[in-house]
Amino acid sequence: MSESEARPTNFIRQIIDKDLAGGVHTTVHTRFPPEPNGYLHIGHAKSICLNFGIAKDYQGQCNLRFDDTNPEKEDIEFVESIKSDVNWLGFDWSGEVCYSSGYFDRLHGYAVELIEKGLAYVEELSPDEIREYRGTLTAPGKHSPYRDRTVEENLALFDKMKNGEFAEGKACLRAKIDMASPFMVMRDPVLYRVRFAHHHQTGDKWCIYPMYDFTHCISDAIEGITHSLCTLEFQDNRRLYDWVLDNITIECQPRQYEFSRLNLEYTVMSKRKLSQLVSENLVNGWDDPRMPTISGLRRRGYTPAAIREFCKRIGVTKQENTIEMSSLESCIRDDLNENAPRAMAVLDPIKLVIENFDGDIEHLSAPNHPNKPEMGERSIPFSREIWIEAEDFREEANKKYKRLVLGKEVRLRNAYFVKAERCDKDADGKVTTVYCTYDPETLGKDPADGRKAKGVIHWVSADAGVPAEIRLYDRLFTLPNPGAADDFAATINPESLTVVQGYVEPSLKAAVAEQGYQFERMGYFCVDRKDSTDDALVFNRTVGLRDTWAKIDG
Ligand code: ATP
Ligand code: MG
Repeated sequence: MSESEARPTNFIRQIIDKDLAGGVHTTVHTRFPPEPNGYLHIGHAKSICLNFGIAKDYQGQCNLRFDDTNPEKEDIEFVESIKSDVNWLGFDWSGEVCYSSGYFDRLHGYAVELIEKGLAYVEELSPDEIREYRGTLTAPGKHSPYRDRTVEENLALFDKMKNGEFAEGKACLRAKIDMASPFMVMRDPVLYRVRFAHHHQTGDKWCIYPMYDFTHCISDAIEGITHSLCTLEFQDNRRLYDWVLDNITIECQPRQYEFSRLNLEYTVMSKRKLSQLVSENLVNGWDDPRMPTISGLRRRGYTPAAIREFCKRIGVTKQENTIEMSSLESCIRDDLNENAPRAMAVLDPIKLVIENFDGDIEHLSAPNHPNKPEMGERSIPFSREIWIEAEDFREEANKKYKRLVLGKEVRLRNAYFVKAERCDKDADGKVTTVYCTYDPETLGKDPADGRKAKGVIHWVSADAGVPAEIRLYDRLFTLPNPGAADDFAATINPESLTVVQGYVEPSLKAAVAEQGYQFERMGYFCVDRKDSTDDALVFNRTVGLRDTWAKIDG
């Protein structure tokens, strides 16, 4: 296995070690809290590996909690996909799946408690006015005329909100904190708003929904979370997180710690943007193999082990940075180099006729892995007509070209020496057929007279090979940071997908979904689990054999 065994160390694990050593906690309880408004992406994998990885290594617990307070943007399809992606990555949550919406009654109770303590009030300024009153980073905000209502009045109005007597935007509940705070989140943040929206878990029970900052800390406390790990953009919100928990009657005091988000070059990582790519049909769904989603990477042929290894290699810090795509690719390449069975496929076929081969198909045998005899051998049919890669033949070439040239010999991988004699061309001068002779004495051994082959090329029997559609992928965007472009969708790489019709060796008819294969000399491929049928094979190229990114950039 290419996944390294060593336990990671990072500043969060150091905090946990200290908390356990100092008796602050006796066990560790984390959570992964996605909002079900899209499919998970590789950035979420970082958070999943961190949260579930800590629970595993410290024999603690990690909850899966849907942070579902925005019913209009959420959907049960996303709930299901997230559960399945977390499992596929190799993690399982403690107990039942949790939902913030499962705490709506208690959250409502805590809001009432804040009102009763004079720490929350019903606001009737419009959303625009609220923004205007909030002030700026350099100017303090000013008090709303509704800020000093009595507790009784606030309780009655909050009840009216709950009963649907205010239209959306006509009232909201705000915390009464400090309109002059240097932290904008502390300037009387909104805790509840009116939304007449059907919720995927609670149906039509509620028409008021709690805001993230109010919901998240209380959900953490209800679940007994010890270390609440989130990304750096929530650093300021930590003040509000602590304020809410300090001002309500609740046992547990979880602590929030922030780490930097994963950013990857040449892709976008925000669900809003990914969702736009899907809804505008700029890609073929959330699991398009070009997408940085877990389901896209999975369909592309990434393994859970490779993604976990990637998360281990990038580590967890507070440093903002952007990771090169080649780092992700080297993880899957390392995994597949070790674990993928070898096979032969021709992606841009021309015919090679072996004129001195008579008889039917000959069954040759080839190892499934050059360094792993335990992976066994397979039978490969060899015949008078075979397919070779168009780029593997030239009528003439210099010494650097280690492939088939007229009058010269190459070895056919796992088979014989062949010598090119002549070729046919079409009207455009493109070679269509190469005629050659083979040396039957060269199977598995060099010729006795010391002749050397110029190189080794791969091939597929034209009689027994199987036609296949093969999808080749390139970076999805032309810019390293497409998210920063005015119109990121306009920076999509028009060559991000190339479809070719090739031939694969017949053993690949039995190719298993999610099993990576090395097509010799061409890269790592897997069967497309959605579009492949028994009669029409479709393969995705997961990654090339070598890193070509540096070359493209340089
Ligand atoms: P997005 O911007 O993609 O919508 P989000 O933070 O709104 O991301 P959530 O569903 O709220 O998405 O995220 C669930 C968890 O995953 C959060 O704890 C969040 O901090 C973490 N997370 C999201 N994106 C990344 C990322 N790029 N790197 C690391 N962690 C991330
Ligand atoms: Mg979010």
